[in-house]
Amino acid sequence: MVRQNCTSATPEVRRALCRGGGCDDTQAGITYYFRMDEASLAAEACDVAVIGGGPGGSTAATLLARRGYRVIALEKAHHPRFHIGESLLPMNLPIFERLGVVEKVRALGVFKPGADFEADNERGYSTYAFARAIGKSPPHSYQVWRQDFDKMLFDHARACGASAREGHEVMAVEQLTPRASRLRVRTEGGPDYRIEARYVVDASGRDTFLAAKRKLRRKNREHQSAAIFGHFRGAEARAGADAGNISIYSFEHGWMWMIPLPQGVMSVGAVCRPDYLKQRQGSTLEFLLATLKRNAALWRRLETAQLIGNEVRVTGNYSYDATRMGGPGWVMVGDAFAFLDPVFSSGVYLAMSGAEQAAQLVDAALREPETELALLRKLEKRQRAAIARFSFFIYRFNNPILQEMFRHPSNRWQLEQAVISMLAGDLFDTPLVLRRLRLFRLVYSILALRHWRGWRAEHRYRLAQARSQFTGGNTPLDKL
Ligand SMILES: Cc1cc2nc3c(=O)[nH]c(=O)nc-3n(C[C@H](O)[C@H](O)[C@H](O)COP(=O)(O)OP(=O)(O)OC[C@H]3O[C@@H](n4cnc5c(N)ncnc54)[C@H](O)[C@@H]3O)c2cc1C
Repeated sequence: MVRQNCTSATPEVRRALCRGGGCDDTQAGITYYFRMDEASLAAEACDVAVIGGGPGGSTAATLLARRGYRVIALEKAHHPRFHIGESLLPMNLPIFERLGVVEKVRALGVFKPGADFEADNERGYSTYAFARAIGKSPPHSYQVWRQDFDKMLFDHARACGASAREGHEVMAVEQLTPRASRLRVRTEGGPDYRIEARYVVDASGRDTFLAAKRKLRRKNREHQSAAIFGHFRGAEARAGADAGNISIYSFEHGWMWMIPLPQGVMSVGAVCRPDYLKQRQGSTLEFLLATLKRNAALWRRLETAQLIGNEVRVTGNYSYDATRMGGPGWVMVGDAFAFLDPVFSSGVYLAMSGAEQAAQLVDAALREPETELALLRKLEKRQRAAIARFSFFIYRFNNPILQEMFRHPSNRWQLEQAVISMLAGDLFDTPLVLRRLRLFRLVYSILALRHWRGWRAEHRYRLAQARSQFTGGNTPLDKL
């Protein structure tokens, strides 16, 4: 039997501790003790437990381990494992530098100088080149195979001192006190074991481990879409300097991407409204090809290409957030907190920048607990503000007014450059970009008033789609 002092615990926490083992003395105002049961005796102690070894989890684990904390990072799969989300933003680069992985990303990636969208010009598209952004975002980014990128980041966290474990799935988390959470971990083939952590970072992606357990997850009421995608060999790349661009196409039920990856592979997919995916007939492969044919310009680049392994994936039911980002002793980062439609490739950047901020929060909270709640509020506000700025464009991307603004870009008042900064991910701290984006929204609203019938029809349809039920995915995340 172990006796531990819990004098500083609140009455609520003492009750929780007593439930776990039994108090010797429960009188108010004096020293409290509790017995630790066998499970807690066997628990491995650490400062921070990180759930999930994607970009968000690996970033938090690296930065906290570097600060000298004992970090255990738990990934249920084994790297390299498949993941979608291959196009990175320029604003990822400063994070790579701070992590010390810029060269590794460069070695893994395809150089991405910009994004292109269909346009009514002789080439059929306009490039939004990152070099023209008005903020301080780097002039390029990369596109990566996520299985290689995620493995590199997880290995890097291990090299920086985190105990990074693969094939270890967190099954349960019980919070005993604000500074003591007990995790039950399942290993493949081995016995379950327990970890006792002073802080928990949930980076479990779209599994939304803590948000689901704490019933914090809420579906986005303004937008819903689902994706169908595959990887092709032999697709036509853009010419010259545009070869590494992500290309975005639209069609009547959503939008499509073409992302050039290493070794001549092209990731191609369509993000569609649920109504369209519900009409699916025939095999998933036939449906993907029929969908891609709906945009003639995209199909011209693809018609002689081969779908690798004839493998088609569908993932549904996304766009959600949690009602809060954390509490004393726990915080959520990346998709574990919120997920947006990926039209602007924002997911990895939001996960890594959120994780960077969360690492600072955890460090401050462990040193000066009284600062924790204020810092959490600040972090959540910052993260939600960036999500809202991306969301403005995402929600309206299929609206004829925004389509028109993308097809005929005008740089009056630097609005086109502000859009480029948004595409680069410069949405947090650059006042000039934020001012220009406010102006862009104003111009959009004026145009919407002028063409209010078209705007209203699209707006109503979007909200109706957001309410629709769709569970047609075939990736592991869709089984949740
Ligand atoms: C169709 C589509 C296209 C996308 N395209 C892009 C794009 O081009 N660019 C971009 O930036 N983003 C894109 N995204 C978004 C991107 O995939 C995510 O935003 C990003 O991967 C989030 O990183 P994360 O670290 O939060 O979560 P993840 O990368 O999902 O990592 C979470 C990890 O946690 C592990 N895990 C889950 N539960 C547990 C548990 N209980 N115990 C242990 N481990 C656990 C999982 O196995 C996983 O490895 C796209 C998403 C979709 C659906």
